[in-house]
Amino acid sequence: MVKIAKILFPVAVPEPFDYLVPDKMKLSIGDFVYAPLGTQSKLGVVWGFVEREDTKKLKQVLEHKRARPLNPEILKFVNFTAQYNCTLQGSVLRMVLRSHKALEPSPDVTLYNPTGQRPSGLSAARKRVLSLADIWPARAGEIAKAAGVSSSVLGTMTKAGLLERFTAPLDPPFAPPNPDHEGRDFELTPKQINAGAKLQALVQQKSFNVALLDGVTGSGKTEVYLEAAAQALRAGGQVLILVPEIALTQAGLKRFFERFGAEPAQWHSAMGDAARRRVWREVHNGRARLVVGARSALYLPFADLQLIVVDEEHDGSYKQEEGVIYNARDMAVMRSKLAGAAVVLASATPSLESLTNARSGRYHHVILPERPGAATMPDVALVDLKEHKPDAGRFLSKPVIDGVTEALSKGDQAMLYLNRRGFAPLIMCRACGERLKSPDTDSWLVQHKRTGRAVCHHTGYSMPMPTACPECKTEGALTPVGPGVERVAEEVSELFPNARIEILSSDTAGNPQAIRTRMAAMASGEIDIMVGTQMVVKGHNFPHLTFVGVVDGDLSLGGGDLRAGERTYQTLVQVAGRAGRADKPGRALIQTHMPDHEAFVALAAGDREGFIAAELSMREILGLPPYGRLAAIIISATDAAKANEFARKVLNAAPRAEGIEILGPSEAPITILRGRHRRRLLIKAEPKVNLSAYMRSWKSRIRAPHKIKFAVDIDPQGFM
Ligand code: ADP
Repeated sequence: MVKIAKILFPVAVPEPFDYLVPDKMKLSIGDFVYAPLGTQSKLGVVWGFVEREDTKKLKQVLEHKRARPLNPEILKFVNFTAQYNCTLQGSVLRMVLRSHKALEPSPDVTLYNPTGQRPSGLSAARKRVLSLADIWPARAGEIAKAAGVSSSVLGTMTKAGLLERFTAPLDPPFAPPNPDHEGRDFELTPKQINAGAKLQALVQQKSFNVALLDGVTGSGKTEVYLEAAAQALRAGGQVLILVPEIALTQAGLKRFFERFGAEPAQWHSAMGDAARRRVWREVHNGRARLVVGARSALYLPFADLQLIVVDEEHDGSYKQEEGVIYNARDMAVMRSKLAGAAVVLASATPSLESLTNARSGRYHHVILPERPGAATMPDVALVDLKEHKPDAGRFLSKPVIDGVTEALSKGDQAMLYLNRRGFAPLIMCRACGERLKSPDTDSWLVQHKRTGRAVCHHTGYSMPMPTACPECKTEGALTPVGPGVERVAEEVSELFPNARIEILSSDTAGNPQAIRTRMAAMASGEIDIMVGTQMVVKGHNFPHLTFVGVVDGDLSLGGGDLRAGERTYQTLVQVAGRAGRADKPGRALIQTHMPDHEAFVALAAGDREGFIAAELSMREILGLPPYGRLAAIIISATDAAKANEFARKVLNAAPRAEGIEILGPSEAPITILRGRHRRRLLIKAEPKVNLSAYMRSWKSRIRAPHKIKFAVDIDPQGFM
């Protein structure tokens, strides 16, 4: 028998491959190695060892890479993620190894600092260098560029004792957070202290514990979970705070800074390679102690993770829908279990799944029932659009216009919420009835006035807005139908010509920096009326905002998503919760055509319990989560007949099992996407069924022909 190393590569492979280990090479699990894969020498990770007799065809490991190994916990987490989500181990490892270069130590750079000497009679060039502010310590190139001098000046200035030269790592470590810094300018309330103490006690146990931090909007959940973070930091551990992508705002980061006296390491999709490399390396060696990141931060190689916080745990953006399909909230719970760490799920509108776990005692339930100090909850009311019809071609009813007027007259701010980008969601020809469609996708083109284009929101396809109908060629007959944020902003600017109005949506706000700037402008009162999409919903505090108008409350109820009611309720509680943050009372009005819908009735009555009870009983009758489990199979092919044929084959390959019900195949709501015809199957399982195992066994019976794609989605959230 020969000892063989199993090596997993960060590529689309289902499992590790076997390799011989050269005699002198001492390998351990988690080590990085180079080994031949195809014609290449590829970086992989030692996943385990086995004894084998037949080793004739095996190749040898080529090189043991001297780098800190991955710890066993992460290996187990990769395995779990792959198993649970029915996906390839190698693809999950690729999420962990996002930054190969991070395995190398940081290269050094040469930096300069002024020595403080400033003799008289300096040359103009030297003066310019020494008068640079906010740049030190800096590299030669940066200084030369900023001061408009040649870099040779820096050498002579160093010789003359005006500058000092030293080397430092290119990627500096993050300043350590100080758990006892306490830079806040307010005291926590007794209820907040109590909640914080409960979470701290869980962190102290250094074992797997899940807590649901369930507190109304603005109750101080962030402050409370930062106390739990302080506890983990005191114990020398690392803390990961997951936030919905867009919530990485300046204001949010400032609060971490104030609490711990140091900037946290950040991780999100808009980061450049250099920043990624730095964070990865520092997390891996355990020196980055506090990390704030979007969902993929969960796959960073923490050395000693003691706490994960999932802020806004109900948020849909924790679900990754492409590549490896996974839900970061659920995977965070597993990650904590493997690390023997605590996990805090925080939300004002917890998912029914988490709430059920908290009520059954599986999770600790920590409740913050009120806002601190004088801040009160906003008053929420409905506007029945059948009764209060907006004028023709308009979208705001009189009560909403009055609400904005009142807020502005008091010197406060107003916000209008509509989760629709662009000017109009549909462009129709008045002459022939044609609706402009995306060329290879089943969706309408959206009119964007700012850019003058017609855009497909599913694929990003766009074209200049035509002047004539592409079908009947009539000039000037194309008409926008329905509102997007741009159109609402236009209406508002006609109604309030002197108001400072801003639109906040992903296409107008651009990069994270631009978003932060706009959020800061809103917080400081430089904007009177903000018109925004879901970007405005998440975790922002605007102290002068006292009125929120929801332009179309019904929007998220369509689409056949089983969570439509829950999502509508959550989103609108969050939107309304932006109002009345400080000592000014807030008000929210929701425009709807369905004032009797249970989600709206509950919103207006502030009856969360009533809504939850109604929603849960409906789910129980239908056997939907949390009373049953769901999975989906999504199939796509360039040809409709082939998609149908393959979908039938997939269905026929389904293993027989108790407690499983299969619905479909049927056409996906977006039937054609980028030229591919899409079909879906929905699998409903009773709670006792191990659904992942069932789906794995089903998947193993399917061979997709060339050019046909299929993916398994465990616990599907969107039903696109
Ligand atoms: P949540 O996350 O529950 O929505 P936050 O933690 O964001 O609430 O707090 C809402 C706002 O109230 C923040 O601006 C925060 O600084 C402030 N705040 C929280 N606790 C207190 C307190 N005890 N006293 C004064 N202000 C507080």
